[in-house]
Amino acid sequence: STFVGASFGGIAELYAQIQKAIGATERVFELLDETPEKINSDKNAISEKIKGNVSFKNVAFTYPSRKEIQVLKNVNFTAEFGQKIAIVGPSGAGKSTISSLLLRFYDITSGEITIDGKDIYDYDLENLRGNMSIVPQDVILFGGTIKENIAYGKPDATDEEIIKAAKQANAFNFVDGFPEKFETVVGERGVKLSGGQRQRIAIARALLKNPSILILDEATSSLDSESEKLVQEALEVLMEGRTSIIIAHRLSTIRNADKILVLDNGKITEEGTHQELINLENGIYKNLSNLQFSNS
Ligand code: ATP
Repeated sequence: STFVGASFGGIAELYAQIQKAIGATERVFELLDETPEKINSDKNAISEKIKGNVSFKNVAFTYPSRKEIQVLKNVNFTAEFGQKIAIVGPSGAGKSTISSLLLRFYDITSGEITIDGKDIYDYDLENLRGNMSIVPQDVILFGGTIKENIAYGKPDATDEEIIKAAKQANAFNFVDGFPEKFETVVGERGVKLSGGQRQRIAIARALLKNPSILILDEATSSLDSESEKLVQEALEVLMEGRTSIIIAHRLSTIRNADKILVLDNGKITEEGTHQELINLENGIYKNLSNLQFSNS
């Protein structure tokens, strides 16, 4: 979510800068498709379908533009196929960085990230990203039709597939309410959608893409309760049958996670289920959840 202090050191940082600075343009999406220089060239790169077992082994990471800070230190965790892993922790702890590493926006400094037991840098980048979807906190749609925005992850999708995905994502009704329906132009020069509507478009896009690994950055600011409920329902459908790594802010998500990782200052300090962590005396999670969720 936050890419503070980025300099123009690489495509990923450039992307972050542009996303921050300009907001919605198609350029952002073009940049996402570009292949940065990586450790392993794509010779013999793995192009088989990903199942969705993710593992971080002693992962350390420093942003190339900010060598003085080690953002991740010895991070170890596994997410097995179909699991929901929630990452919680204070701002700046390194939560978004974990998702950037999974998407291979950056090379890790040391350690290993594996997917289905194989080094993440041995994968064909297009295959890797083709098997992952990210639903960010603040969804930016590109200037185009709703249909194009949904079909982005699967350009050859049929109208039936697009409609089905929109229905599953609780987006169909509001889209159908526009005079131009799926041909409605959104973005800077089009119809302005609410945050919750944009999220549901992003969920429809992800459903259509059908990734093995889902990265979900939950919104911190709450939507109005009706929209919240529709988004939440759609997310439940989306997470079904895939591995989800969630930068979590909602108690319901956290409670339902198979595993919660507490990230503090680049280190995983606690790991377990909600029940397990709530029982840790003087635990960070215990404190966090007392503070954040005392009213829920
Ligand atoms: P938040 O909850 O506020 O989104 P976070 O836990 O996701 O925080 P990260 O965004 O991963 O934290 O940031 C971890 C650290 O890395 C912070 O010190 C941040 O300033 C730094 N950082 C993040 N992105 C970059 C970047 N592109 N270049 C240099 N430093 C960065």
